[in-house]
Amino acid sequence: MNAKQKNLLIRIITAAVFFVPLYLISEGIIKTSLPGWAVFALFLVPYLIVGHDILRKAFKGILNRQVFDEHFLMTIATLGAIVLGEYGEGVAVMLLYQVGELFQSYAVGKSRRNITELMDIRPDYANIETEEGIERVDPDEVEVGTVILIQPGEKVPIDGIIEEGYSTLNTAALTGESRPMDVKAGDEVLSGSINMSGVLRVRTTKEFDESTASKILDLVENAASLKSKSENFISKFARYYTPIVCYAALALAVIPPVIIMLTKASMESYGGMGEVWADWIFRACTFLVISCPCALVISIPLSFFAGLGGASSRGILIKGSNYLETLSQVKTVAFDKTGTITKGNFAVTGVHDSSMDDAKLLEYAALAECNSNHPISLSLKAAYGHTIDPSRVTDVREISGEGVMAVVDGEEVVIGNEKIMKRIGLDAPRCESVGTIIHMAVEGAYAGHIVISDELKETSAAAMKELKRAGVERLVMLTGDAETVAAKVASETGLTEYRAELLPADKVKAVEDLLAECPSGHRLAFVGDGINDAPVLSRADIGIAMGALGSDAAIEAADVVLMDDDPMKISKAIKIARKCMRIVKQNIVFAIGVKAICLILAAVGIANMWVAIFADVGVMILAVLNAIRCLFVKDI
Ligand code: ADP
Ligand code: MG
Repeated sequence: MNAKQKNLLIRIITAAVFFVPLYLISEGIIKTSLPGWAVFALFLVPYLIVGHDILRKAFKGILNRQVFDEHFLMTIATLGAIVLGEYGEGVAVMLLYQVGELFQSYAVGKSRRNITELMDIRPDYANIETEEGIERVDPDEVEVGTVILIQPGEKVPIDGIIEEGYSTLNTAALTGESRPMDVKAGDEVLSGSINMSGVLRVRTTKEFDESTASKILDLVENAASLKSKSENFISKFARYYTPIVCYAALALAVIPPVIIMLTKASMESYGGMGEVWADWIFRACTFLVISCPCALVISIPLSFFAGLGGASSRGILIKGSNYLETLSQVKTVAFDKTGTITKGNFAVTGVHDSSMDDAKLLEYAALAECNSNHPISLSLKAAYGHTIDPSRVTDVREISGEGVMAVVDGEEVVIGNEKIMKRIGLDAPRCESVGTIIHMAVEGAYAGHIVISDELKETSAAAMKELKRAGVERLVMLTGDAETVAAKVASETGLTEYRAELLPADKVKAVEDLLAECPSGHRLAFVGDGINDAPVLSRADIGIAMGALGSDAAIEAADVVLMDDDPMKISKAIKIARKCMRIVKQNIVFAIGVKAICLILAAVGIANMWVAIFADVGVMILAVLNAIRCLFVKDI
């Protein structure tokens, strides 16, 4: 509990201690000879103790011409009750209202803290070596290229490359999975992971603000500010609802007494006209108490917030509550192949038609690819296995979805698929091997091809099954790779459709066609690894980047970021979104339903103020507790 909450708690207790004996006196249970004005004055003490801030806020609202808010409702209702001589009800309503406020602020604060704890990746310090020994500094002050020391048990504060040492890293806080990762000199380490065993000396490659941990935290913190339709609905609703309720209450206070006065009907049950007015004004006050919309106003943003927090604790970053809403309606999922469904670790399975030594061809391939991040490029470099001297390579041009052109040792090298060969006027020979065929040309002459093949990710097939079970109707793979490879992957994983040999622009077109085929209310998600599919990620209703840990481009372009590359997380994200939306809807129906019933009961005079305040605070507490359920997504 923070100081503000403690203060409110003390005020509530003090006011309650005053209130209880006074209430017993006013009900005649304790007999005293106090005059009426003294009882009134005494009731004002707990009323002001517990409610002074509400009165002040209501008054400020009136001054700022923002009259209709819940503070105004509470002020009018409780003052109305007190003026009518129902001191007990007036004070009790204020007291219980504040109990509700306290509970709500505690619950919201607690779930916020839970979420930040789940996302416990903010590094507090970095160790740098100085002449006097190791010094702890603020990670913000560490410059790029500094060597930092990471002891076992410490968090990696800044992204960098290991210079010395080996260890096992725990990336659970980033990915939501505790799969330990072995690292050694030369490997990249990401901030937010925890060093479990050895001492590491790491040369930083980024500033603190640009490091993975900071980026992720920014993303999570900003996510709550992108409002979803349901949230906008609620704030619009509150804007119209409160004034309507206030005028309805006014009508309830004035119209029936006037009718009674004019017609003299049903006067028998009243002592006189004064009593008629008092009765209806009191009903109007009760009506106001019931109508307070706090349950919705509080619980809906909280549900989204908890949903986003729960998801991020599982390694699924969702960039705004609007995306939770879209995600819950996904019925078509389009996938990139390489790096998304397959591992993107290609193994070289053959070198054919080579016009030079096979090893030499591979060396040229690796050199030409020296700047590319494409999974094919990374695999060719890995297959080559030697360090690459970049000064041997000039004039590099990468053509998305086709390949790379570069000058290696003064010779023009072109590497990629048939399309890039056609570009330089060469007809690539057909190859019967199943796999991705990487053709090469040197100095404008065909020089051979390297056959590489990728493996499916272990969970790809299971992930498709899960998606189908979650009600996703179409699973479409869009790939730049050859037809034969696409067909094989599609049948092995259980995709419903595939389109092969697409350029990045064709992928955008394919997504547009799929979007046009979606019936209204059905959404399309595109899942990619962020490498050359940023345009598609942004064209889909919702772009999901997977394996995005450390890839800035993907984190920028996508709406949902899956930190590790497990395709099972796609269905998980959809299920989390559905759960969250279900809870939001439950709260809307429940809160509006209970209010509507109570309002009718109040209008006809059955519900008194006690019922009203219990309904209000009760609904609020239940709605908030329900909202917090969004946080629990472990076993989804
Ligand atoms: P995917 O849809 O499988 O992710 P891409 O659109 O990234 O495929 O690439 C399509 C094809 O273009 C690859 O299968 C490959 O033949 C060729 N290609 C793309 N980039 C490169 C590269 N850097 N080196 C060689 N070939 C490439
Ligand atoms: Mg790709």
